[in-house]
Amino acid sequence: MMISNRELFLKNTAQTSATPRLFEIVRAEGVYLYGPNGERYLDLVSGFNVSNIGHRHPKVIEAIHEQLEKYLHVTVYGEFVQAPQVQFATKLLENLPSSFESVYFTNSGAEAVEGSMKIAKKFTGRRQIIAAEKAYHGSTQGALSLIGNEAYRTAYAPLLPDISFIRFNDSSSLSAIGGDTAAVILEAIQGEAGVRVPSKTFMKALRQRCDEVGAVLIFDEIQTGFGRTGKMFAFEHFDIVPDILMLAKGIGGGMPLGAFVARREIMDVIKDNPMLGHITTFGGHPVSCAAALASLNVIRDNNLLASVDDKANLFRTLLHTPKIREIRGMGLMMCLQLESFEQVYAVSDYCAKKGVMIDWYLHCDTALRVAPPLTITEQEIREACEIVLEGIEKFC
Ligand code: PLP
Repeated sequence: MMISNRELFLKNTAQTSATPRLFEIVRAEGVYLYGPNGERYLDLVSGFNVSNIGHRHPKVIEAIHEQLEKYLHVTVYGEFVQAPQVQFATKLLENLPSSFESVYFTNSGAEAVEGSMKIAKKFTGRRQIIAAEKAYHGSTQGALSLIGNEAYRTAYAPLLPDISFIRFNDSSSLSAIGGDTAAVILEAIQGEAGVRVPSKTFMKALRQRCDEVGAVLIFDEIQTGFGRTGKMFAFEHFDIVPDILMLAKGIGGGMPLGAFVARREIMDVIKDNPMLGHITTFGGHPVSCAAALASLNVIRDNNLLASVDDKANLFRTLLHTPKIREIRGMGLMMCLQLESFEQVYAVSDYCAKKGVMIDWYLHCDTALRVAPPLTITEQEIREACEIVLEGIEKFC
């Protein structure tokens, strides 16, 4: 008898939890995921903030096909001139304030974090890095050193030395940033903490404190970037500009890609003393960069940012029930606060059975994650909310 993919998944691939959700997906298109037996799920997770323009956008597929006809990998990053990298870097910089002058492409978000920490340390000649409680920046050892959750740090100790933590959105904790601080690394809006939006006052005080002591301010926009919050990048909501911006997830239109972007003088530290200070074989893969350029063009050409707030407001209006204790978020990065993980699990399970995919957060498993593709329509929002509300009425 043929062994099912589900059995092979459990037998032959690494398991990251004792309770994987085990949905098999055979196709994805627009805002929908499809299973092998005709199941259809309206996707409110977007592969964890990846599919901002929906799954398999035709412009992205076209760009991938075009690049497939030219070349795949040709050499390590930073040696040959590859048009997809150059064109996308140029377009990305056009969408950023002029203080951003240089783009380094990686394969993933965690690698963007690793590279950013290195250039900040070398540029300032300092060692200390400050992150925030409840932060999540990735699972490699350097990125994991910044996790604001003791259980993960203890399990994988020793991690990087000279890491300290401040309280997110608490200006009184900014005095911890001082003359030894190389960088402060923060999510512009904390994602896995259960979508924590900081105040403009805090963000401005943070920028000012970093300027006072000469620390590099690094924003992780790996979840918030590329329109998710209603602006191209979330820092635009706070009237401040970080020194280094880290990107991934939604950048590639569904293809693996990450980046960190900085002023030329900061980025240039990897060039010499010693040379080749940060290299990668596959970072900035030409197919991923071609997809990323197409995806950014789709966001701009279709003016996707313009409708994000209206769509978010519709979710908020339709999901109005005392059983949801709080709806946090900005734009289509939202979180529905319930009371327990049991409720969250039961509602997610119910929604999936009814054809709506919804999830929760790493450091906040008492809240439901709502982050659909930005292309979701009003009708689809109504359908999704009806089912989510049914689940909440039933299990909360
Ligand atoms: N930073 C944030 C805010 C994230 O949410 C994630 C992944 O979920 C990362 C960094 C790490 O990105 P990746 O999984 O691509 O390494």
